[in-house]
Amino acid sequence: MGSRQVTTWAGRNITVAGLGVSGISAARALAGFGASVTVVDGGDSPAHRERAAALEAEGISVRLADAETLPEGTDLVVTSPGWKPGSPLFVAADAAGVDVVGDVEIAWRLRGPDAAPWLAVTGTNGKTTTTQMLASILSAAGLRTAAVGNIGTPIIDVVLSAEPHDVLAVELSSYQLHWAPSLRAHSAVVLNLAPDHLDWHGSMEAYAADKGRIYEGNRVACVYNAADKATEDLVREADVEEGCRAIGFTLGTPAPSQLGVVEGILVDRAFVEDRGRQAQELAEVTDVQPPAPHNIANALAAAALARAFGVPAAAVRDGLRAFRPDAHRIQHVADVGGVAYIDDSKATNTHAAEASLAAYESIVWIAGGLAKGATFDELVAKSAKRLRGVVLFGADRALIREALARHAPEVPVVDLDRTDTGAMLEAVQEATRLACPGDTVLMAPACASMDMFTNYNQRGDRFAEAVRELGAASA
Ligand code: ADP
Repeated sequence: MGSRQVTTWAGRNITVAGLGVSGISAARALAGFGASVTVVDGGDSPAHRERAAALEAEGISVRLADAETLPEGTDLVVTSPGWKPGSPLFVAADAAGVDVVGDVEIAWRLRGPDAAPWLAVTGTNGKTTTTQMLASILSAAGLRTAAVGNIGTPIIDVVLSAEPHDVLAVELSSYQLHWAPSLRAHSAVVLNLAPDHLDWHGSMEAYAADKGRIYEGNRVACVYNAADKATEDLVREADVEEGCRAIGFTLGTPAPSQLGVVEGILVDRAFVEDRGRQAQELAEVTDVQPPAPHNIANALAAAALARAFGVPAAAVRDGLRAFRPDAHRIQHVADVGGVAYIDDSKATNTHAAEASLAAYESIVWIAGGLAKGATFDELVAKSAKRLRGVVLFGADRALIREALARHAPEVPVVDLDRTDTGAMLEAVQEATRLACPGDTVLMAPACASMDMFTNYNQRGDRFAEAVRELGAASA
């Protein structure tokens, strides 16, 4: 990529790739600073034209039906997060010596830490949950904050808003990190690292390297997962400010400079006077909802970032108690006939599904969908002893069925052989048939949803509707 940096915006020719929420936010902000902005998008639907007309009325150019050629005279390309690095527009920019950056980079260049210090969160799974827990803890400490980045209001709008913030809890995807080379967080965490989105990044190494950028230039703490060596390696490789500390989190007893768990209590052995001998009690495991192991890990990571920012222990406890996870993340839908029905539609990869399967003892598992290149042997082998039965649907269900035949041949499997939205009702009926009182029916598909549903939200909603129908029928 070229090395030209655009530091003043007036009169610059900026091309924004993508007429979505983040593209529109970037275009408006940069035009507001006097840049000459062109938004390009491959689409040309009535919805695209409507959005284009609104921007053009504000003096922003929009080019539809061509996402590939670089507009003449472009100084800088600002991309929306989903665009792949090899997209023709970026190849053309590279050839012309023009930088490509994302909305997070623009937010950082516009205001940097002047708006507020950033506490940054990434990882393969648990980002949204941890970022929201962190915001809840910071609020409980009386700080003015918001959970931003990959969630909520576009980050550019937040840093430019008139509403002052003391600190921001920022969720960053690997895509956003890839396109944010100069970002420097106060403190950051990589929660875990498992293969995902490799089609976008090209390789596991490239994916890890993009995640690792979150630690670059950290000032106070690089927080890593002591159970996931890859995250610790990324801290070691990062170039940080003098005095920045490496802080681990663990579900076991913490070593000095770690946060961990001792007899059901979350404790801090990092941000205390004498970490050789002292530990500060933060909260009880039961203060975390749901108290599944992976979610305790999320809580410890959030607590570590908050403590790095100087938040008192009582605020960690109050913030965790006040936190409620978003829908479709290990959400308890209902108990019917002594069986608990849990919606973890957000488990869109094997690493996430493994975490939720580990949280229950006897499970009827509903799974399947788009595998995105994943393999299921490890997941099935680790979870086999907890499975009472399995119901499969979706495009890549055969991959899961074959892994079950190899590692859990005793477990009854119902293959619905369906990829239509209505399959969810049949899946819940079949799961109910397999379940005994005391079991959990867990919809944690380990796959993306788009073969059968609009998105994971719709998949989760359909599950809940099916459970309600079942409940009404059995009442
Ligand atoms: P993200 O924003 O990274 O997608 P979420 O907080 O939305 O993460 O959680 C997504 C899913 O990942 C959850 O439904 C759960 O199944 C799983 N999950 C959450 N935290 C973890 C974790 N620390 N390790 C493994 N899986 C997790």
